[in-house]
Amino acid sequence: MKGKIVIDAAFCKGCYFCIEFCPKKVIRVSTQLNAKGYAFAECDTEKNCTGCATCALVCPEAAIEVHRE
Ligand code: SF4
Ligand code: SF4
Repeated sequence: MKGKIVIDAAFCKGCYFCIEFCPKKVIRVSTQLNAKGYAFAECDTEKNCTGCATCALVCPEAAIEVHRE
């Protein structure tokens, strides 16, 4: 299965649970800050995303949407 994630940077609080728990290492820390001053999470290597939705489940801010193809 192939997946695609959309992270709403404005809601991200920089906890990085999504990075820690993604089994495919799809997500990384951005070099930019959001309006709240957090270095937000962003998609790095989308091609490896399986759409497992673990990142969305562990995100306390519900900032991640998962789409499956
Ligand atoms: S789990 Fe959510 S709040 Fe935490 S870094 Fe990832 S997107 Fe941001
Ligand atoms: S859906 Fe799964 S593979 Fe894709 S970024 Fe989230 S945790 Fe990683």
